[in-house]
Amino acid sequence: ANAQIASSSTAAIQVLSAQKRFGQFTALDKVSLEIGAGEFFTLLGPSGCGKTTLLRLIAGFEDLTSGDILLYGATQAGLPPNRREINTVFQQYALFPLMSVVQNVEFGLLRKGIAKVEARRRALAALEMVHMGSFVDRSPVQLSGGQQQRVALARALAPEPKVLLLDEPLSALDLKLRQKVRLELTTLQRNTGITFIFVTHDQEEALTMSDRIAVMSHGRVQQVGTPEEIYEHPRNRFVADFIGETNLLAAEQLEGQGTQATVRVMGGRPFRVERSADLGVGASHVSIRPENLILTDAEEANISGTVSQHVYLGTDVQIAISAADGTEIMTRVQSGSASTLPAPGSTCHLKVREGRARLVDD
Ligand code: ATP
Repeated sequence: ANAQIASSSTAAIQVLSAQKRFGQFTALDKVSLEIGAGEFFTLLGPSGCGKTTLLRLIAGFEDLTSGDILLYGATQAGLPPNRREINTVFQQYALFPLMSVVQNVEFGLLRKGIAKVEARRRALAALEMVHMGSFVDRSPVQLSGGQQQRVALARALAPEPKVLLLDEPLSALDLKLRQKVRLELTTLQRNTGITFIFVTHDQEEALTMSDRIAVMSHGRVQQVGTPEEIYEHPRNRFVADFIGETNLLAAEQLEGQGTQATVRVMGGRPFRVERSADLGVGASHVSIRPENLILTDAEEANISGTVSQHVYLGTDVQIAISAADGTEIMTRVQSGSASTLPAPGSTCHLKVREGRARLVDD
């Protein structure tokens, strides 16, 4: 799919200053987004941040308080869900237990007035796409959770919507199955070319599946970017902290120009950091991923502290270090180097991998 394409000419969905209030409570606060045609786009954020509300507004289950939502340039205001070329796969994918699998999938097509033969053809094609071609005559109650989820997906795909909305569709599946269906979903998205808008609070799911991610909190979009942009170049503390593991450390900015700055942390040797050119003046924290802190000697140290513990994680060992002011710092080294790890209680010096720390907004 198209990782970068989201100019208005190819935008499938444009969210324009969308606001949603429930009484006094603002669930969405002037959100603007463009989602490119054929993109796998993810709304990521903690519980209550407004992801589902935004999805329901796009689908037409809720009305905007103000703002607009366009599908291929056309406002969807006033259009009920069934008149939008948008379909939704819900977390609770209620299938009809008294209908067979194929009847479940063709039901919506028949209701739209599509002729029987054509509806059956499309339903079978959609079931084939989700690898359920050999289950068409079963009852949904004879299927596993993962299989039911696939039928729900086929049901949403069969009308060939322009945009498919997926609201935490994998959350009911166990870990192994979830990983498998993740891969299948990305393949399906690429093969069909349908624009997917996927909602999750699982950052790993977002990073592994998406062309682009919008990170949300408190009804606002904090950052939009490719998984790599979001992980490597978080704009603010919230994004840095929510995506992956990081050390967020109070920093003294010694000099700063454009996208580069020099900072000092806890009185150690100054080091270079990256920042976005439009960063606010209040920026006073650096984000350093554990893997970007390297064990070193006292002369080279940007940060020093006392080792508090080692945690074995399989491929890596995580080392927790307490700085003099009590700040907890995490670093990671490859396991196998266990014999050379500084022992708990010993002093430990760390340097920041060149160019891999980032100054973030508050
Ligand atoms: P989750 O991951 O838990 O589903 P979410 O990010 O999808 O969370 P939303 O369901 O969009 O969050 O809810 C955003 C906020 O709006 C929440 O604080 C929620 O309580 C509130 N909210 C949602 N629907 C309504 C409603 N119908 N009436 C009042 N408040 C609502």
